[in-house]
Amino acid sequence: MKSFLRMDGVCFALFLPVLVLFFGCQGESSLNPSAKAPAVPFDSSRAWNHLLKQVEFGPRPSGSEPLDRTRDWIVQELTSYGLEVKREAFVAQTPGGPITMENLYADLKGPAGPGGTPGPMIVLGSHFDTKNLPFRFVGANDAASSTAVLIELARVLCLAPEPAVTYRFLFFDGEEAVRLDWVDPDNRYGSKHHVEQLKQTRGAIQRIKAMINLDMVGDKDLALENDASSTQQLMRIFLSTAKSIGDEKLFSKQLYPVEDDHEPFIQQGIPAVDLIDLHYGPLANEYWHTAQDTVEHCSQESLDRVGKLVLAALPRVLKQYVK
Ligand SMILES: [Zn+2]
Repeated sequence: MKSFLRMDGVCFALFLPVLVLFFGCQGESSLNPSAKAPAVPFDSSRAWNHLLKQVEFGPRPSGSEPLDRTRDWIVQELTSYGLEVKREAFVAQTPGGPITMENLYADLKGPAGPGGTPGPMIVLGSHFDTKNLPFRFVGANDAASSTAVLIELARVLCLAPEPAVTYRFLFFDGEEAVRLDWVDPDNRYGSKHHVEQLKQTRGAIQRIKAMINLDMVGDKDLALENDASSTQQLMRIFLSTAKSIGDEKLFSKQLYPVEDDHEPFIQQGIPAVDLIDLHYGPLANEYWHTAQDTVEHCSQESLDRVGKLVLAALPRVLKQYVK
């Protein structure tokens, strides 16, 4: 993952001490951007179990058998919520040779646009691969935590009445660099591929009104970045939402740019935000991409805070971006 921040080209991992986280009613032509409150609340015990489950699969780098099993399990979960899951397979050309990767996505369909055209969409994303490292790396935080929250968000939104927009739950393969260091273009294979596919379909990019990316949201001592590479207007919605739900301390005050799966969307003009905590460890970010990224350093409460933040922010996001 985002092994460095674009700060004077310095690899933050090496040098910076403390841095740097409804069911279908198609056919209606009028849109009501007011989102109704979910019928069921975010259940962090379910999300926590999703985190534990992924860790049980073991290290899950792209192209590995444990990642295949993880993917099948995500499909099974989403299907049980009534979603139809699409598998988006492709071969990534990496510095380690070609690797077959596969994103997953499922759409909770909202109203159609004028004349029955596809209606507006909000994308909620997380990567689910773990970095391939020369030791046992189970990625409880990176990226089991965000994957877990996204699965639970899908369940909650599926149980909410009348979605005002279509929600796409998007699980990226290949976010992590294949090489040890994060050097473009060796990273974010899944998000880049998905955006390239969207570009092939007329109107698919324009349809997406906002993209919300989750990554490393399980840290016991959670402090999401005030990410400078995110669309600032969208980031401000999340900052003010945190405040309004009484969780002001959820975001760090510092503003840093983070490289992550939201950026391919921003490059297409889609407002996008990255919810990520890159202060994973007591001193700096020392648990990140190490054998210390374990269940013990994550908490159910952190998943709860992020799940609730996203659900509280969605009506405001719709109000701002879905006209
Ligand atoms: Zn990572």
